[in-house]
Amino acid sequence: MENCIFCRIIRGEIPSRKIFEDERILVIEDITPQAPLHLLLVSKKHLVNCLDLSTQDDDLIGYIFRKAGEIARQKGYAESGFRVVQNNGAGAGQSVFHIHFHLLAGREFTWPPG
Ligand code: 5GP
Ligand code: ZN
Repeated sequence: MENCIFCRIIRGEIPSRKIFEDERILVIEDITPQAPLHLLLVSKKHLVNCLDLSTQDDDLIGYIFRKAGEIARQKGYAESGFRVVQNNGAGAGQSVFHIHFHLLAGREFTWPPG
């Protein structure tokens, strides 16, 4: 059993503001939001980042992306645009080593990202 912060949130040991949950993923509000909408789509399976994926995770990752779009649409951001971000490694800004996707919306986003 993993003791990373997201595994503990999934097990209910640490409180979170849940938006959606099913057998594969948990969607929560980020504790330090970087946009008016900042959600985390967290795999319930403990995987570190995309370097940790195998072919058996292909459906899961596709599902997470589809869910990100579904939630963005539900929240009213289909027209204005939104961003789905996933960091790999500390050098790219990953601070929780349990795979998750940020869904950010509600403000202008610059490119390239910082
Ligand atoms: P990363 O930096 O790994 O891409 O993203 C980790 C995210 O998790 C950060 O945006 C951070 O604010 C968020 N985070 C860290 N600890 C917690 C927590 O205990 N609860 C919630 N809801 N978010 C957290
Ligand atoms: Zn974990």
